[in-house]
Amino acid sequence: MWRSPPPYNGTAFPGRARSAPPGVRKAARAVRRCRLFLGYLALSFSRACMWSGCLGVGRGQADGGESMIQEFEREHAFDNAFAPHEARPGDYLLHFREGACLTRVTHVGGADADAGDSGEVIELPRVEELGRRPRQVTYLFSLGPERFFLALDDRVPVPSGFSYESVSWLRRAEPQHLLFAAATASQLDRWYRDNRFCGRCGAPTELAPTSREIVCPECARIVYPKICPGVICAVTSCEGGEERIVLTRYAGRTTALWALVAGFTEIGEPLEDTVRREVAEEVGLSVKNLRFYKSQPWSFTDTLMAGFWCEVDGDDELSVDRSELKEARWFRRDEIPLERVGDRASLTGEMIERFRLMGRRAWE
Ligand SMILES: [Zn+2]
Repeated sequence: MWRSPPPYNGTAFPGRARSAPPGVRKAARAVRRCRLFLGYLALSFSRACMWSGCLGVGRGQADGGESMIQEFEREHAFDNAFAPHEARPGDYLLHFREGACLTRVTHVGGADADAGDSGEVIELPRVEELGRRPRQVTYLFSLGPERFFLALDDRVPVPSGFSYESVSWLRRAEPQHLLFAAATASQLDRWYRDNRFCGRCGAPTELAPTSREIVCPECARIVYPKICPGVICAVTSCEGGEERIVLTRYAGRTTALWALVAGFTEIGEPLEDTVRREVAEEVGLSVKNLRFYKSQPWSFTDTLMAGFWCEVDGDDELSVDRSELKEARWFRRDEIPLERVGDRASLTGEMIERFRLMGRRAWE
């Protein structure tokens, strides 16, 4: 079972109106949701035509043309080693308020941004732009030569042109390394803010000076960043020359895309058992031949996802857990909706596209 908040499933987010009053923003989001739905219908019903074929082969992740959120150019290589750096004027200094990231949008996405074709371009604040120096600043990580710091103050002066934007809304924004920085920083921001007091003795905690640890000066308890493991399960069947995959849709989501069976690892459980349990719970199948594909940090929900391919073992009739899923069904490769074609961020999107394009060659 997924825990709250809503889990990773690579679901598109409903539009990103900015610099407008709340009522206008709400209306704009509704229009974009509608557009997303219509776009999905158009893509789904046109998959038999030539256009769908062009879309699929040309821009899928499986051909190497796209990359996931944590995969970007070598010049922005991620270095998460902690050291007590002093922030310089040109360094990035991130700030979050109620989970939203202080961001400047330098280019608003095009009409088809929700389908993944043209996202926004963002810039994050630098020390020199913030004017007054925040009271509590800690070093986060580096991406190539760029260093990122986090302001832990409740409020900072908002520089001209910046506003607080939901990190999950920015999921398709460019450049990719800044999106990754914002998402990863948001995870650390939550961790810092959730551990201001010791969970054992209640004393105010302190940040360790030379390591990424929160320490309690009273009882010496040490708290490390929170990372929750979870699995993504691509359940396949390749019997009789027909290659199929189980796709699911979560209940209770406004923009639920087709996804793969997924869930969090429970206490004392190896990842392989998480796969078997989640598949059994959500769609009532037994699986065999588990193969690890790759993993993905999904900082939006403090998660580290591990993607597995597996094959149905025995009876392939689905028994859907309606408390969690709206629906689940088998899809032949040529039936798989094209809604994931532009989803460059998520491992779910990559695995669905990879199977659509390659079938069982996806893991062989
Ligand atoms: Zn304590």
